[in-house]
Amino acid sequence: MNPELFVRRNIYHLQPYSCARDEFQGVASVHLDANENPYNQGLNRYPDPLQRTLKEKIAGIKQVRPAQIMAGNGSDEAIDLVFRIFCEPREDNVVAMEPTYGMYKVAADINDVEYRPVPLEENFRLNASKMLAAADSRTKAIFLCSPNNPSGNLMKREEMLIVMQNFNGIVVIDEAYIDFSTGPTWLKELDNYANLIVLQTLSKAWGLASMRCGLAFASEKIIALFNKVKYPYNVNTLTQNKALDALNAVNRKNEWVEMILKAREPLAESLKTLPVVEKIYKSDANFLLVKVRDADKTCRFLTEKGIIVRNRSKIPLCDNCLRITVGTPDENSALIAALKEFSNELNK
Ligand SMILES: *Cc1c(COP(=O)(O)O)cnc(C)c1O
Repeated sequence: MNPELFVRRNIYHLQPYSCARDEFQGVASVHLDANENPYNQGLNRYPDPLQRTLKEKIAGIKQVRPAQIMAGNGSDEAIDLVFRIFCEPREDNVVAMEPTYGMYKVAADINDVEYRPVPLEENFRLNASKMLAAADSRTKAIFLCSPNNPSGNLMKREEMLIVMQNFNGIVVIDEAYIDFSTGPTWLKELDNYANLIVLQTLSKAWGLASMRCGLAFASEKIIALFNKVKYPYNVNTLTQNKALDALNAVNRKNEWVEMILKAREPLAESLKTLPVVEKIYKSDANFLLVKVRDADKTCRFLTEKGIIVRNRSKIPLCDNCLRITVGTPDENSALIAALKEFSNELNK
């Protein structure tokens, strides 16, 4: 399967912008090629457009080759690029599970590409044949998210494999929450599927949401297309440096993940004892999807107490559901205390 067959014609023929830092890659002591200010050392130079040092580091941690990595301004940049590279506006379409991460549809809408949501089954199970049935000859990409947001569950590997093996187009697997799950990453399959794009991010487990660094992993051919279309300097120097620091301290990330996972089950247990809580879905992520008696009222009460959770009740299959991020032990206790108070008020 050659991903270049699915590329928009204008992108295939695109002569990309060539920046000064692309044309010269050796070591130089005098830089008079990019109209930079020679003063303000540290920030005066344009960043490495291909983030070579950062990718070397990521490649070591993730056990992939640097040429299989794209770094972007959050995963959202990679999601948008999938549409800009592969989907002809008003002609092509994409298929995605529902409910899932909202940015896929927003990116589709912005790019004027038809978005085909396919409802998940009971307990948010993936049904591969339904996903495939929604696709046609103009379907350029299928979006899978595992663990899924907002449901929190891992999708079954066998079902995902059926999609991978039977769809003639790009398969995007969003693994934003993979560090919190026991599921194996799809990164191992990159060499087996030239049409696979795996998304990960430094925004969640690595604790760097403010820094904006998302990662796309794919075949060299797909990464070359990403590099051709992305803004040349899409990841700034401060972000590249900070990301390197974080990646040099994997243990810190692992400790955070451990603390968050250790807090997740007690939080679920405490929530279960509350009369306002009807159901807690199984989570493989750093949040819980919680079905309550009245999501709007519960949210309003919590907001008055200064506690914000995500009301997902208007989303298909998420009737009266709140998405609650696992916080620090103090934050989790504050949530439970407030919900107890809310339960007592209801019973008055
Ligand atoms: C949070 C999240 C992301 C992360 O997006 P960034 O732009 O990298 O911060 C990606 N996918 C899903 C499903 C998410 O929930």
